[in-house]
Amino acid sequence: MSTYGIDLGTTYSCIARLDSNGNPEVIRNNEDDSNTVASVVFFENANNVVVGQAAKENVETDGDRVVQFVKREIGKRDSRVYEFDGKTYTPVEISALILTRLKNLVEAQGGTIEDVVITVPAYFGLEERSATKQAGELAGLHVLSLINEPTAAALSYCARQFQEDRTILVYDLGGGTFDVTVVKMSMSQNAAGNDVQKITVLATGGDDRLGGKDWDDRLYNYILHACCDENGLTPEEIEAETRQDIRSKVEEAKRKLSKKQSAKVRIDVNGARTEITVTRKDFENMTSDIVAKAMNFVDATLEKVPAEAIDTVLLVGGSTYMPMIKNVVEAKFPGKVQQHDPDQAVAKGAAIYASMLVEEVGSPSAGDETAGGETSHAEQLTSKFTVEDQTPRSFGPGVVDTTAAKHKYVLENFIKIGEKMPAVFTKTYYPLEDNQERVLLRAFENRSTDDTLIPCVDEDGNPQATDPAHYVKLLGELVVNLPPNTSRDTPIKVTFKVDASGVHVEAINTKTNETFETFLRTESDIDVERSAVHQLRISSD
Ligand code: ADP
Ligand code: MG
Repeated sequence: MSTYGIDLGTTYSCIARLDSNGNPEVIRNNEDDSNTVASVVFFENANNVVVGQAAKENVETDGDRVVQFVKREIGKRDSRVYEFDGKTYTPVEISALILTRLKNLVEAQGGTIEDVVITVPAYFGLEERSATKQAGELAGLHVLSLINEPTAAALSYCARQFQEDRTILVYDLGGGTFDVTVVKMSMSQNAAGNDVQKITVLATGGDDRLGGKDWDDRLYNYILHACCDENGLTPEEIEAETRQDIRSKVEEAKRKLSKKQSAKVRIDVNGARTEITVTRKDFENMTSDIVAKAMNFVDATLEKVPAEAIDTVLLVGGSTYMPMIKNVVEAKFPGKVQQHDPDQAVAKGAAIYASMLVEEVGSPSAGDETAGGETSHAEQLTSKFTVEDQTPRSFGPGVVDTTAAKHKYVLENFIKIGEKMPAVFTKTYYPLEDNQERVLLRAFENRSTDDTLIPCVDEDGNPQATDPAHYVKLLGELVVNLPPNTSRDTPIKVTFKVDASGVHVEAINTKTNETFETFLRTESDIDVERSAVHQLRISSD
């Protein structure tokens, strides 16, 4: 089979496929003896770029040649460009290096890889999605589709334990991010009258700066100070090599503490061998505030979907291996918590989805053990399942509201977050003034469900403060030229269409039938003379 699912993670990535029985399996990373690959790239020299655990081991000693957490930058407007040995790398190119490493895992084990599904956080906007897809293509992969990480996790859970109607809270605590998502699985009938299972995202929340790294940092400081105490040194007197030594042992110690009550760490402190013992209790005490902080994000998400509506809580992400996490979630949702290979669930779900898309599953080839025999849960699922794509953000144009005493430039939210895609909305506006030569129709993206918002730029295009919770972003502008003598009563029909590949903005001058359109998916060059008069107004007179 040449179809794979890829979890391109902030700290660890994972690749999976369906085995000949239709069950998802992860491709092992034998070099690091792991199921995952660290999403870390070390630019050793012009001829050697290292990805994975070996790269991670250089963070403390050669930090300026190491790139990590690049997922935080992918598709961001102001993301930095890295430069090593005279070559520049964008976040998309760095992500492509990680994807290439995953591809090489498959090929090194004699497999071929063609079609893939890559997972993205549910809150990723269109630019981040499009950049992720680009990274896949740059790595020589054919990206069939992207799928939301919590949806993929829910899919892999259902492949294990088929459920018809369920509301699932996905608690995904990874290495650098914490995502809380409520997804609903429901049965409905498609146009052909067949039963299909739908997965829809009901609510998203979390913190993109909270993850296993916070636990590592606490443990690092604890061990660093213990080393100082043992050797009568101040933290400033600890050499860089010793720091790297502690850094590279912290994660291992943390993983040990998930299984055992205590872990011993041996460190060469400036040449002197020192042994530090950390108990699980110590570790839990030094991190209890972060556990509580994560739980606050769960509570905030439950303001959108009531706790009683949650049937199952799915623990996903490597950090949920820590018993303190399972304990606190179990206390809040007694009897509802499920956890199965939390660091692999997302990749496995993506593999199931990829197979659904190429329809390899459900028609096992002759000689397959399952042919004529029992069908796996994954097969049952793929034969009657659709993922309903939803808009990852809200979208709308900036227009002038002339009804206010002093006219006001507002963002009219045409299409709201979570609408079924493709989503289309049309509304008629009018030029602000008579004889206006053109209109600069700005398109905005945001995460609010309000009907109108304050845009992140004013009429003249100058940045202005918005509610941070709304994440308002300017996607681009459409220039609509108007013929001479256009009156301010000329109706201009504006349409926004959002699908998985981007936002299509169209404006029709209904007097002349002239159509202007643009497709916004990556950063567009905005270089037009700005003036308040170049606007559309909401009809009011
Ligand atoms: P990502 O954040 O990239 O989605 P993962 O979901 O794989 O990645 O989570 C990675 C985090 O999980 C890291 O901080 C890692 O140290 C942590 N982790 C992995 N296994 C364990 C374990 N057994 N115990 C505690 N933490 C773990
Ligand atoms: Mg993850």
